[in-house]
Amino acid sequence: MLPVIALVGRPNVGKSTLFNRLTRTRDALVADFPGLTRDRKYGQAKYDEYEFIVVDTGGIDGSEEGIETEMADQSLLAIEEADVVLFLVDARAGMTVADQAIANHLRKQEKSIFLVANKIDGLDADSSCAEFYQLALGEVHQIAASHGRGVTQLLETALQPV
Ligand code: GDP
Ligand code: MG
Repeated sequence: MLPVIALVGRPNVGKSTLFNRLTRTRDALVADFPGLTRDRKYGQAKYDEYEFIVVDTGGIDGSEEGIETEMADQSLLAIEEADVVLFLVDARAGMTVADQAIANHLRKQEKSIFLVANKIDGLDADSSCAEFYQLALGEVHQIAASHGRGVTQLLETALQPV
């Protein structure tokens, strides 16, 4: 059985961009506006020597109503199914209330959770990412999903046998 990695986080942090990079497809919808990927989307990924199933989700924004609730449910199911959860935040946007709400949920899970700060391209990554340590999920892994920076190192850490 291949390990299952779920990508969660509020809309627009770059989950689908990372999904596409990991699966090398353009299947997952990537958009400039939040909330387009409404359902969980599965892809088989082979990245360097790593093979796994990756699950893209529509995103949780911490204050769900209507369609937002369905999207959140998808994310919660994806978390349950996963062996590893990559919780993405946006290093450009900085920490948001939604990030804090999601972190509160994730800290209660008996899962292997990795906090991932995306969009570090063109930023002073260390100083931009420092505030995310307040989410109390340990190390902040820095990546740029659209460029591929940090992705191999992240997988190396996230998929190393426990
Ligand atoms: P999702 O809603 O979490 O699935 O986010 P998307 O993957 O749709 O990305 C939202 C926006 O962020 C798009 O405009 C992407 O091009 C942009 N984006 C994603 N990853 C990066 C990155 O590493 N660097 C930069 N600068 N932009 C990114
Ligand atoms: Mg998406």
